[in-house]
Order: sequence, then C-alpha cells, then structure tokens
Amino acid sequence: MPKFDILSGLDTAKSVYKDIKNRISTLEKKNIQPGLCVILIGDDPASQIYVRTKTKKMNSLGMLSESILLPEHITEDKVLETINDLNNDNRFHGILVQFPLPNHIKQQNIINAISPKKDVDGFHPENVGWLSIGKPRFIPCTPKGIMRILDFYDIALEGKNVVVIGRSNIVGRPISILTSLNNKGANGTCTVCHSRTKNLEYFTHNADVVIMAIGIPNYLKGHMIKKNAVVIDVGINRVDAENEKGYKIIGDVDWDSIIDKVSAITPVPGGVGPMTIAMLIENTLEAAEKYG
Ligand code: NAD
Repeated sequence: MPKFDILSGLDTAKSVYKDIKNRISTLEKKNIQPGLCVILIGDDPASQIYVRTKTKKMNSLGMLSESILLPEHITEDKVLETINDLNNDNRFHGILVQFPLPNHIKQQNIINAISPKKDVDGFHPENVGWLSIGKPRFIPCTPKGIMRILDFYDIALEGKNVVVIGRSNIVGRPISILTSLNNKGANGTCTVCHSRTKNLEYFTHNADVVIMAIGIPNYLKGHMIKKNAVVIDVGINRVDAENEKGYKIIGDVDWDSIIDKVSAITPVPGGVGPMTIAMLIENTLEAAEKYG
C-alpha cells in the first residue's frame, strides 16, 4: 500500500458527471439542450484528439457538441466572422476555439471576440476580471478542475503555503487567484514562481501544496519539496517510449523521486487532465442554465 494518497481526476470527474446528468435532466424539462461549438483551425493531430474526446463525452451526456474545422491558412477576419455567427446562434451556449492557433492569427483577438456569456474557457478579459475580484462567471477549466480535486479529497488550503510554478493565463495565473481568494475552499497563501524565479527550491521547500504547470518533464524532484507536501501535477509532456505508440505522456513531476515525500499527488495521466474536460462540460451547462 502506498503511504500517500493518489488524487484521482477520474474519480473526481465521475462525481461531477453524476451531478451534471441531473442538471441536464432539469434543463430538458425546459426544452433546453446545453450546446458547445468548438472551432478547430488547421490539422494538429493532438487538438483533433482533444476535440473528439470532448464531443464523445458531451454526446454521451445528451449535450449538443459540434465542431467547425477551418483550414490552416484561413484569415483572422474569417475566424472572427465565424465567432460572430456563433455568438448569435442560440443552439450554442458555449464557444471554444482550440489552441494553439496558426502564427498569423492573434490569440487575444480571438479571445476578445467570443461573447463573455459564451466564453466557457473563461479567458475573455471580462471574465478574468470577474474572477480576480472573487465573483467568477466562468472559471478556466484546468484551474477549476484542480480546485475540485482538492475539494473532493478534503484538502483544505486555508492558512497553507501554496506555491504555483508557472504563470500562464490558462493555468498558473488563474490557479494562483483561486487558491488565495477569500472564499470557502481557498484562503491559501499563494506564491507564483516562473522562469525568472531565482532559487525555486527556497519556495518549494516552504510549500504545503505545490502546483506544477510549466511543461518540462520530471522537473520537480523529491529533494525540492518538504515532507508530506501535496503535489498537483498539471504537466502533459509527450516523451519517446518503447511501446506500441512510440510515446507516453508524463507530467512535470518526477514521480519516482517524489512519492516518498508527498502526502498526496495527482497522477499523469488520470489526474488534472480528465477534470479539464469535466469542467468544460460543467461550464457549458452553467452557461445554458444562466443564459439558455
Ligand atoms: P506555458 O508554456 O504557457 O507556461 C509555462 C510557464 O512555466 C511560464 O509561465 C514560465 O514562466 C514557466 N516556466 C518555464 N520554465 C520554468 C522553470 N524552469 N522554472 C519555473 N517556471 C518555469 O504553459 P501552460 O499552458 O501553462 O501549460 C503548462 C503545462 O501544463 C504544459 O505541460 C501543458 O501541456 C499542461 N497543461 C495541462 C492541462 C491539463 O488539462 N492537464 C491543461 C493546460 C495545460
């Protein structure tokens, strides 16, 4: 038996889906079917797999999920037109543009064009603003999923030192806000570390909870943390492996060196990843409930 808890995103997601099913039935009685439209630009195979997984799960729950595939060389104006059409299409309560985008399209212009009431990714500046004053409309899916895992396993953050490594708008920054909000389940004392941080170990040694989101395989090692820390591994890194696929997915945490030190840890795969999809579906449902 391991001496640490494995914080399963799959188990947490199961409980989320149970609740989602009940809420979808309630909406059905009002003739509302929650709908998400995903725009996918170009033919990045990893993005296509993500989109297929989302669609399959949403359809199995009785939600509407459609994808619009646009060619790699499409102009930004055409993408903005497509978004505008979807903003006015009542079938869709959520709109998601799959990143990464081709270089000639500016990510921020795309984010700004999505109606904030259909921005189920929670990336629109208006929604970022609501989150930062502690009154979130849509919480970005990965950070929301992390908070839900901590809640599912009764890991309280109040009074704890939380160290977030990575400051992206998608993961690091929003999770740093969420963990330190003056809200139930939060109230942590959060430090954000990043590529310019000097002496990272100074911070990680003092952390009760480390949230690792940098995209470098096996970066966080056992000697960098204190005994009984909780570690959340957000990283998704594809590395070569001698198996049928020729690759495997690993996190940002060096599992072998860290498991003797942690009290609890999210695995990769099966940790934060499944929760990101669950929270996207929940956000779409929330959009249908609020604005449907
Ligand atoms: P990003 O590339 O946008 O940001 C990386 C961050 O890491 C930057 O803020 C940078 O300052 C910091 N960083 C880089 N090197 C560092 C170092 N040596 N020390 C400290 N900080 C350093 O990445 P992102 O979009 O936030 O994603 C991070 C990882 O999480 C990636 O592996 C990504 O695939 C994964 N991810 C997973 C999910 C999920 O659902 N599990 C969702 C989103 C992202």
